[in-house]
Amino acid sequence: MYDLIVVGGGPAGMMAAGVAAQRGKKVLLLEKNAQLGKKMLITGKGRCNLTNDCEIEDFIKNFPGNGKFLYSALYSFSNWQLMDFFSRLGVKTKVERGGRVFPVSDSAKDIVEALKSFIEKEGLEVRLKISIESLITEGEIVKGVKDRDGNAYKGAKVLIAVGGKSYPTTGSSGDGYSMAKEVGHNIEAIKAALVPLNTKEGWVKDLQGLQLKNVEASLIVDGKKETSQFGEMLFTHFGVSGPIILSISREVSYNLDKNTYLSINLKPALSREQLDNRLQRDFEKYSRKQFKNSLNDLFPNKLIPVIIKLSSIDSEKEVHQITREEREELLNLMTDFRITITGTRGFREAIVTAGGVDVKEVNPSTMESKLVEGLYFAGEVLDIDAYTGGYNLQGAFSTGYLVGINV
Ligand SMILES: Cc1cc2nc3c(=O)[nH]c(=O)nc-3n(C[C@H](O)[C@H](O)[C@H](O)COP(=O)(O)OP(=O)(O)OC[C@H]3O[C@@H](n4cnc5c(N)ncnc54)[C@H](O)[C@@H]3O)c2cc1C
Repeated sequence: MYDLIVVGGGPAGMMAAGVAAQRGKKVLLLEKNAQLGKKMLITGKGRCNLTNDCEIEDFIKNFPGNGKFLYSALYSFSNWQLMDFFSRLGVKTKVERGGRVFPVSDSAKDIVEALKSFIEKEGLEVRLKISIESLITEGEIVKGVKDRDGNAYKGAKVLIAVGGKSYPTTGSSGDGYSMAKEVGHNIEAIKAALVPLNTKEGWVKDLQGLQLKNVEASLIVDGKKETSQFGEMLFTHFGVSGPIILSISREVSYNLDKNTYLSINLKPALSREQLDNRLQRDFEKYSRKQFKNSLNDLFPNKLIPVIIKLSSIDSEKEVHQITREEREELLNLMTDFRITITGTRGFREAIVTAGGVDVKEVNPSTMESKLVEGLYFAGEVLDIDAYTGGYNLQGAFSTGYLVGINV
């Protein structure tokens, strides 16, 4: 009989298991993969952006999905405590652009190995290749878990830390939702978030590989601006990706049944008047050139044929012949460059899952279920999700820690 059974060997599960064992609890950690922390190895493009060097209040703001639920968790185990935790395990960290924290070695493997050494040191039992299917309960009290082969594991307390549904090849395939639902928990609709977008226009393929910096992308839903982001985006063979697109994608997932398009302002730093002045200066400079040869100072090369195609201006027309109306049209294209969204790339390519176990049914100070005694949740299985920047992993570590000190 264990004091705590942890289901899932990701950041949330490993942290909870290690901290509970440190407090003298008898802990069993069950993981369905043949290794622990498989998803963590691919985080931050293999560099693991483990947290962010910002204030707790900013953390909360960066969780569009239920940030306020995390107050207790983040104050109990903050980003600074996490960095200190890894430093004591021999992994030094560094801060990069936007407060993103990485191991100095730029290797996610170091983070996983440090966590493994932490739980090894605490002497808890780890069993790999065990896929848990359901919870064992008596009345409203948890008694253990059952695996897919029907084997039972008895424990006074159980933590579900199986992650969300995104990147299922890493092990997180959404198993936690059915387990929680079976014992009465409400599951808020799950959606792919931080995910690239599929688009309609054929010319998008011609732009494959083009990265646009310092642009503003707005998501328009049924004619209304829903959200906008400033920064970098990328064109791909299927549509669009890159930091600002990933941040917008959550809203796209929640509005898939509606009419959505992206409106890109290619020159957001300039007012329309400033942009018009700029355009006129360029047109004066190139007044004897054909329209198609006058745009090099304004757009990256790859974008020029697309801009020409989308405008009604004859590409061979001499620049001095371009009318005011035509210039206005070009200004519209530069400030409201439209790309129609047909969908997201789905859970297979989503960095996180929005939705999950309803946080109203979980005690934010302990992560214990309010419905089933002794049952806990931590990490992405909960209805929490953040933007990129290290917030998601910190959320997993902090909620896992809270379980570790409360069981
Ligand atoms: C490509 C990519 C890059 C990312 N980069 C970053 C980043 O740089 N920074 C950041 O903050 N976040 C990043 N994330 C998000 C972050 O990895 C997750 O939010 C985080 O790993 C969630 O932790 P978790 O412990 O809740 O779940 P997971 O890490 O998903 O771990 C859950 C574990 O449970 C196991 N499991 C699942 N079902 C069962 C079962 N039935 N029985 C037993 N075990 C089971 C799984 O195999 C898995 O090992 C990235 C995600 C992806 C996909």
